[in-house]
Amino acid sequence: MGLEKKFSGFVSVRGAREHNLKNVSLEIPRDALVVFTGVSGSGKSSLAFGTLYAEAQRRYLESVSPYARRLFNQMAIPEVDEIEGLPPAVALQQQRGAASTRSSVGSVTTLSNLLRMLYSRAGEYPAGQAIIYAESFSPNTPEGACPECHGLGRVYEVTEKTMVPDDTLTIREKAIAAWPSAWQGQNQRDILTTMGIDIDTPWKDLPKKDRDWILFTEEQPVVPVYSGYSHEEIQRFIKNKRQPDYMGTFTGARRYVRHTFANTQSALMKKRVSQYMISSECPLCHGKRLRQESLAIKFAGYDIADISRLALNKLAIIFSPYASGEAQALKKMATNHPEKVVVAKRIAEDFLARLQVVLDLGLGYLTIERSTPTLSPGELQRLRLATQVRSNLFGVVYVLDEPSAGLHPADTEALLRALDKLKASGNSIFVVEHEIDVIRHADWIIDVGPAAGEKGGHILYSGLPEGLREVTASLTRHYIYDDTTKHKNDPRQPTEWLKLEGVIRNNLSGLNVAFPLGVLTSVTGVSGSGKSTLVSQVLVELVADQLGLQIDISDETGADPLEKTEVTTLGGQIVDGMKGIKRLVVVDQKPIGRTPRSNLATYTGLFDHVRKLFATTPLAKSRKYDAGQFSFNVAKGRCPHCEGEGMVMVELLFLPSVYTPCPTCGGTRYNPKTLEVKYKDKNIAEVLGLTVDEAVNFFDEEPVISRALDVVREVGLGYLRLGQPATELSGGEAQRIKLATELQRAQHGQTLYVLDEPTTGLHPSDVERLMLQLNRLVDAGNTIILVEHDMHVIASSDWVIDIGPGAGDDGGKIVAADIPMNIAKAKHSRTAPYLAKHL
Ligand code: ADP
Ligand code: ADP
Ligand code: ZN
Ligand code: ZN
Repeated sequence: MGLEKKFSGFVSVRGAREHNLKNVSLEIPRDALVVFTGVSGSGKSSLAFGTLYAEAQRRYLESVSPYARRLFNQMAIPEVDEIEGLPPAVALQQQRGAASTRSSVGSVTTLSNLLRMLYSRAGEYPAGQAIIYAESFSPNTPEGACPECHGLGRVYEVTEKTMVPDDTLTIREKAIAAWPSAWQGQNQRDILTTMGIDIDTPWKDLPKKDRDWILFTEEQPVVPVYSGYSHEEIQRFIKNKRQPDYMGTFTGARRYVRHTFANTQSALMKKRVSQYMISSECPLCHGKRLRQESLAIKFAGYDIADISRLALNKLAIIFSPYASGEAQALKKMATNHPEKVVVAKRIAEDFLARLQVVLDLGLGYLTIERSTPTLSPGELQRLRLATQVRSNLFGVVYVLDEPSAGLHPADTEALLRALDKLKASGNSIFVVEHEIDVIRHADWIIDVGPAAGEKGGHILYSGLPEGLREVTASLTRHYIYDDTTKHKNDPRQPTEWLKLEGVIRNNLSGLNVAFPLGVLTSVTGVSGSGKSTLVSQVLVELVADQLGLQIDISDETGADPLEKTEVTTLGGQIVDGMKGIKRLVVVDQKPIGRTPRSNLATYTGLFDHVRKLFATTPLAKSRKYDAGQFSFNVAKGRCPHCEGEGMVMVELLFLPSVYTPCPTCGGTRYNPKTLEVKYKDKNIAEVLGLTVDEAVNFFDEEPVISRALDVVREVGLGYLRLGQPATELSGGEAQRIKLATELQRAQHGQTLYVLDEPTTGLHPSDVERLMLQLNRLVDAGNTIILVEHDMHVIASSDWVIDIGPGAGDDGGKIVAADIPMNIAKAKHSRTAPYLAKHL
């Protein structure tokens, strides 16, 4: 076939059976761009990540400590007979569930290190200041951190006013709001009674000396506690040496707040105590986080904090004259410090080269300082990719998960160039993708299917792209080779317009915009143009505010709760159209839960019905088991060891902690007694192990349950197991579960649905099913506003709002707002040429 000539070698897989894979064997070329296609749930990830990447990882771990190996082996030995010719692998997967650690664009790309070196070695120092080391330019080191705020950039104050919001209350009436509310708080009040403080005097009437001590002392006296007695009685008990109830340790309120804030593992606790802290910009460094000596050093006229706040494409402009040696400043440097010129030029060249890849991937609108939790998963994946392109590794397999997510077709072209570069340096690229343009660019296509879950797991095709044309069983083939889908050109008429004026946030400055109600609108534009800012942030917040809802936008970003108040500063208001909206539903890609405790069945409410059903079985009745017995969140019926999680977390030194199946219940989550109860021959754990598709048949006599299951199936999730932990779900799957939960509800109309790229993770055939569901919601009198890149979806929308024209400061304007037919002809719209091809 001549394939041996075309490719340098092959990875040979024999007998892969991971998840739903049907004992498949195949050959995959190395040093090529290989795209894995197929409907959602068909087994693409099980092959690319679960088998190939997992095996490469396992082999790598063979070379590390036996301890780490043992833990990983439980997790990740793929079900496969043999893999030959597999190079080491690097996975660039999008985050699933788990919170990302806090870092910045600069640290992910290593641009920060380079910048620090530059400032240290080639910066302009004030006369007489000695050279300082690169670490002194990092706020995370003792050498660099501002001494006032310890490198945080903000100072946190805990005051009497914040801790005691109502000073007319007594201590017994919980004047000290900052103290814990339950038993611990009672404990503190008892201790104060022993110490002779009157807890029935209004706070404001207590002596200032006592108030200050209670709130601000760092002392932690230990005193005898006799609950429920007066100070006088207690004095007597102590004199008579009566045994106290216990010895209590006092903790001042401020100490409690600070200690909890710094040490708690619970986001909720952290949030609770953060209410009692006021944060303000550090008066010494003004939020720049560095000590003054470090900030005194300049390059190109900027201190390192200021330069880290410039967009990367601006940095490219600043650095290029240094790299080429033409900068005026270099000439000056040559007379005073000739040794610095070479260093400045070298570092600038390196910096620029690394930067260029980031710019090529369409991320020039980011800043060095931007924290990673505020990036979308797609942006983060592309940043990591950019870092890899510059890493000069070769002979590696990169395994990527839908790198086109969040990308406008114009950005996708840049992505493909970056992948080509990685390939050209001698690497293999394995990509799980749905985007037709990426699939068309492949050297080799592996189509998995034909359907999802049990009905998938076969290799329908593995070969050169042209060959897929002949494979009639492939759903992918249809979309690549004979896509004749025609879109309706009779858009619905809006019932009303929701008008926003003077919107200011991120790159939007004073924007006016009108969203049609009663129709489906797509908001389009290149990555970084301002779509999410407008839709997911501003629109959602303003509407929520008008409806009197509390929407916690930044809750899941892992951001410091204290910083939240700052990001919401925005200008803008709704000037018309609110009477057409009674409800707001945001269907986003945030996880439905962060522990294995939440799953599809619990989130959709389905599990309540299932548990009730189990409670009605004869055995359950004879044992007086109620529905709570079958909950893994209640002590009665669950496994005592893992407390119903089915998994136990294992902390690993230097590596992310991992979940492994609970050794006591073997992952079933329940105690043996509970598992004796069966409904139609299955116990509750076995029911949680059913896929949605299987469960539809199993519960066919239970209309409420099977109807709920039907909806989940209609959004393309029939392959998921009922008990599949939230931690195993992708962002797209989580989003579709939310959508299904919503579709189950009775429809009253007048609801505004906001969705951010709902097609992520969806095969074109799944996209069609999704559109069917969304159109049903619109037909029932609701409004849908999508942020979207998929041209099929955009073409079949009723209205399109195109934002741009570029990213960051080059975007943030309404380029065009019209029906799709007219958008396709709009001048200056980067969306227009791509849309035109689909109409
Ligand atoms: P795709 O990548 O094509 O969307 P996957 O490989 O993720 O599909 O899933 C294939 C099948 O394997 C599905 O039925 C899915 O529910 C199942 N599956 C995926 N992850 C797991 C897991 N961690 N444990 C058990 N089954 C899984
Ligand atoms: P899109 O959704 O079109 O990709 P975004 O709305 O995410 O674009 O971004 C628009 C601009 O706002 C970009 O310059 C981006 O860097 C900036 N931006 C977005 N979110 C934040 C944030 N949390 N903090 C600072 N800048 C942000
Ligand atoms: Zn400071
Ligand atoms: Zn257990």
